[in-house]
Amino acid sequence: MSGRRPFGPLPLSIGGEGVGAQRCCAQGMGWGRGGSSDCPSRADSGVDAIMGWNVIGHEWVVSLLRQRLTSGQVAHAYLFAGPPQIGKTTLAITLAQALNCAEPDAPCGHCRSCVRIASGLHPDVQIVIGEGVGESLKIDQVRSLQRQASLMPYEGRYRVFIVPRADQATLEAANSMLKILEEPPVHVVLILTATHTEALPPTVVSRCQRFELKPVPVATMEAALQQRGVPLPKAQLLARLSGGRIGWAMAAMEDETILRQREQDLEQLTRLLAADRVERFDFARQMGQDPAASRRQIELWTSWWRDLLALCLHRPDYVTHVDQMETLSRMAARCSELQAWAVLKALQTTVAQLESRVNAQLAWESLLLQLPAFRHPGNPREKEQFVER
Ligand SMILES: [Zn+2]
Repeated sequence: MSGRRPFGPLPLSIGGEGVGAQRCCAQGMGWGRGGSSDCPSRADSGVDAIMGWNVIGHEWVVSLLRQRLTSGQVAHAYLFAGPPQIGKTTLAITLAQALNCAEPDAPCGHCRSCVRIASGLHPDVQIVIGEGVGESLKIDQVRSLQRQASLMPYEGRYRVFIVPRADQATLEAANSMLKILEEPPVHVVLILTATHTEALPPTVVSRCQRFELKPVPVATMEAALQQRGVPLPKAQLLARLSGGRIGWAMAAMEDETILRQREQDLEQLTRLLAADRVERFDFARQMGQDPAASRRQIELWTSWWRDLLALCLHRPDYVTHVDQMETLSRMAARCSELQAWAVLKALQTTVAQLESRVNAQLAWESLLLQLPAFRHPGNPREKEQFVER
């Protein structure tokens, strides 16, 4: 991503690195393109923004939060749960704006407080990011947070501490956080985000007002991307590829390398379908050494085979890779519903194995042995066929 940094590394974070513009914008605030201000403005708002809440999707959460804040019901702790890049941190930042905005229709997005929060310069709003080994929140960071929480706000109504990925906090840190939640200073609001809430101590979860964020609908995402100048075919593709994660769509809108990487991964996939066992095992070895690429490929392969299954079932409206319809249709014509289903089941098993820390190379080898062979998958002029291995 290029250009402005809505959130600088300091003074926003307590220890470690700040969230950074990529993460902030990537989670759906969507003010990374156009305009001259770092602050989200009404003019740049998503199609579904509710009265200045510049959040794409998640209408029910925004509506409920707005209702409660309007009637003076401010909780001392919130927990936004949901998959990565679905917009949790963006929502947390917008809530921090709403809590400290100087205008009646909070958050206005343009008052001094909203602008400073958006640019990461508000002294009363801090993002506490995990640092060091595993980038998990450490006990020292929570102690520092506790000290700062005991101070009165410098200029806002509330001191707001946003803790992204709270589920990755060390047990010590999570238990220490509980002390703040048990006796919260009246001027402090803690906003936690988490993907796996079950990893948090139940005593922490029960003291927070909890909101589960759901994937943003494709149509909402498409409209939001088009509003930011993305041409329709690309908006349709990004909206589908994102799986409802607005942060991913915004990142892919800004960073062309993400789609380029996908193209390379798709080429790799089709090459492997025609490859012999030696080449497949060589790929398994590479995956065993690169966990990030392994996760990326599994995700891509799952969506690809889901598309094939959809086409086998004559449901092209369910296809994710809409720009690859020609290749998918050719492959689907030579692939049975059962074959597609079997690969999806094998992928599911591989995911479970990788999560349980089975040797990644072995897991991939097992998967690749179950993958049907597909001669000449990329060339329509040559005879194509699936071959049971
Ligand atoms: Zn404001």
